[in-house]
Amino acid sequence: MERMLTEMPPWFWTFVALSFGGVWGSFLNVVIFRVPREKSVVSPPSSCPSCGARIAWYDNVPVLAWLWLRGKCRKCKAAISPRYPMIELITAFVSWALMHRFGPTGAYVLYFVFACALIAITFIDLDTWLIPDVITYPGIALGIIGAVALPEQPVVDHLLGAAIGGGVLAIVAVGAKWALKKDGMGFGDVKLLAMIGAFLGTRSLVFVVMLSSIQGVVLGIIWLTVNRNKPPPPPQADGFVPPAGAIPFGPFLSLAALEYLFFSDTLHALLGHARFGGD
Ligand SMILES: [Zn+2]
Repeated sequence: MERMLTEMPPWFWTFVALSFGGVWGSFLNVVIFRVPREKSVVSPPSSCPSCGARIAWYDNVPVLAWLWLRGKCRKCKAAISPRYPMIELITAFVSWALMHRFGPTGAYVLYFVFACALIAITFIDLDTWLIPDVITYPGIALGIIGAVALPEQPVVDHLLGAAIGGGVLAIVAVGAKWALKKDGMGFGDVKLLAMIGAFLGTRSLVFVVMLSSIQGVVLGIIWLTVNRNKPPPPPQADGFVPPAGAIPFGPFLSLAALEYLFFSDTLHALLGHARFGGD
């Protein structure tokens, strides 16, 4: 079996990774919509948000179905947001990139689950300003279990990663609340960084905090400039009013974790050069 798998041509694994990623991206769309509404992600099957019609399997093919339906529900012709195929495309691309980096291995599966959690958290945080515990808590556990199953670094490094990741950001969150007299950073971000530390180990944390802060500031300034003449966003269904002209921090932590996952070697080399003055 193993010999058969390794003898498969590379295009086979590209095809597997892209379709596997697309299908899970389709599931992430369900997670992103239903988890904040505290609905089950397994039943009922997908239906049109406008008319409630069940979506047939052939209209649920990732990315392609949206294209041949021209972004409209087959029954009621209501527009289907391009965000659905976009999330499927992102997940398929990340799956392909992970396959490229790790090959058809256990590491691919583990980091694909991690990436799916990050993608779901990103869009749920953008929608609701909340990072659900039902994703971060099992994520922290899975990061530790993964370190036991695939011992590249000692397990204790991943345990410490979760503890330090959670601890450092908890201090920042409490400090920001004390200094600003309001919530500067949510505890969802704290649990997210604990999950990242559990998967990527202690050495990732300084990079993830640095990369997310830099990208958060740069994109935050662009966001404020682009939206400076726009009225503040309307309150959401549950009465929550998003802060005017602001974006949540969870997407930046998630993006930085993915960047570290793919470019850790380069990042460590860069830090080595900065510290020792290069060669
Ligand atoms: Zn419809």
